Amino acid sequence: MAVAGTKTFQNYIGGKWVDSDSGETFESVNPANGETIGVFPRSSAADVDRAVEAAKSAYREWRLVPAPKRGEILFRFAQLLTEHKADLTELMSHEMGKVLAEAGGDVQEAIDMSYYMAGEGRRLFGQTTPSELPDKFNMSVRMPIGVVGVITPWNFPIAIPSWKIAPALVCGNTVVFKPATDTPLLGERFVELLAESGVPAGVVNIVHGGGGEVGDRIVRHPDVPVVTITGSRETGVGVMRTAADNLKRVHLELGGKNAIIVMDDADVDLAVEGILWSAFGTSGQRCTAASRVIVHEGVYGDLQSKLVAAAEKMRLGPGWEEDTDVGPLINRGALEKVDSYTTIGKDEGAKLLTGGEIASGNGLGTGFFYRPTIFGDVEPGMRIAQEEIFGPTTALIPVRSFDEAIEAANGVKYGLSSSIFTSDVNKAFRAMRDLETGITYINAGTIGAEVHLPFGGTKDTGNGHREAGQAALDVFTEWKALYVDYSGRLQKAQIDAAE
Ligand code: NAD
Repeated sequence: MAVAGTKTFQNYIGGKWVDSDSGETFESVNPANGETIGVFPRSSAADVDRAVEAAKSAYREWRLVPAPKRGEILFRFAQLLTEHKADLTELMSHEMGKVLAEAGGDVQEAIDMSYYMAGEGRRLFGQTTPSELPDKFNMSVRMPIGVVGVITPWNFPIAIPSWKIAPALVCGNTVVFKPATDTPLLGERFVELLAESGVPAGVVNIVHGGGGEVGDRIVRHPDVPVVTITGSRETGVGVMRTAADNLKRVHLELGGKNAIIVMDDADVDLAVEGILWSAFGTSGQRCTAASRVIVHEGVYGDLQSKLVAAAEKMRLGPGWEEDTDVGPLINRGALEKVDSYTTIGKDEGAKLLTGGEIASGNGLGTGFFYRPTIFGDVEPGMRIAQEEIFGPTTALIPVRSFDEAIEAANGVKYGLSSSIFTSDVNKAFRAMRDLETGITYINAGTIGAEVHLPFGGTKDTGNGHREAGQAALDVFTEWKALYVDYSGRLQKAQIDAAE
């Protein structure tokens, strides 16, 4: 499949593909070989303003389209995604760098989410309650809010837009979408398919460009009452500050420093498999990646030697080659950041067990490849055990007990995902209760979320909202309480009821 090219793409505003006001462009580049994937508009605040205007105008009708009909459009979207799964997967392996199996999983997640939210069109449940007064009927309903600003990262370029846009639409909102500048073509394809599935003009708009210009204008725009963004903690803090001036609803999905605990009663071979998948899958560029492995001293030596041997067998290469285990990092900045953490780890006194270097040669060419890296004898307070590296680097932390393991796992500022390998049901249940994360896995790695459960984290991973599942609806709706009095007289709550 030919995916490289210098075609120039446009923004999609009010149902039309249009050039940016700025006339400036940026390129999307294949991280495995440096080839240009496409040229995109580096849009301006004026482009955002036009998109918001289109979304605001489309909202007037879209909010009145019956929710089951909105769901039917999402259903068609899910079908179209399924038809295009193979080409989107191939494109993702070129534009983002993921291996084919994971890229297919990314697209599948969007399919699942779109079907799930299509069904939500016939639910969107509210509540009915008794009234404290006679001849009176009470209920609560979910109302759409308006124009939703959707700002996404590059690491799940099809899945994450679906987590935000599908629930936003089924709830009756319209959208201005800014994908990451590292994966604009996938964002573009996502919107093309939405348009093809019957989303009316203006309901979904895409504006390409950087966070500082396009993203910032979306966050500041007074006619965008909801902003949903997935990105780094630093970006999230800035967005929340900016949005405070207009008292916007801000939904933040931020970083992680996820840990796998391996107890002395664990199936060590199973744990090794789980760690490999969680630490080095997507080259460690998942918000749920296991960048810490907290290991009971009883199995530390065994686990370390098996893990290092298995990591050294992993094959680096372009994501689209069938036998690749680990693809490239997203760009040069990411490569340099990951490498700098190897230096930090060594300087802190951690033991570099394998990896720790930029990989080149053997057909890797000019790609941004980094060897799977494992540090041993890591102390929980070291920077490599505290800060999000977002690359194929994991830290083995030895502990002497279950309690020590839980304390180490919780001793970071993030709270996204966690896992424990143990054959003791009591420890498993205590871990489910005591690990301070939004997601906990038992006898599995830290990744593998399903779309019908809430996704998100505690502490600095977010601001209390959740993506996916029923919880996602809370981000994109306002609750409205409705009271219908059919008594024919003026009844006063708290006053008449007390008599
Ligand atoms: P990033 O924060 O650099 O960028 C995310 C998005 O925000 C991009 O579209 C970017 O252009 C935009 N942005 C940047 N500055 C902005 C600003 N001032 N105003 C508005 N928008 C702005 O993150 P990234 O490098 O693209 O992604 C990696 C980060 O995302 C990691 O920290 C990772 O953990 C996190 N992430 C979290 C989840 C989750 O669900 N918790 C999922 C995936 C990734």
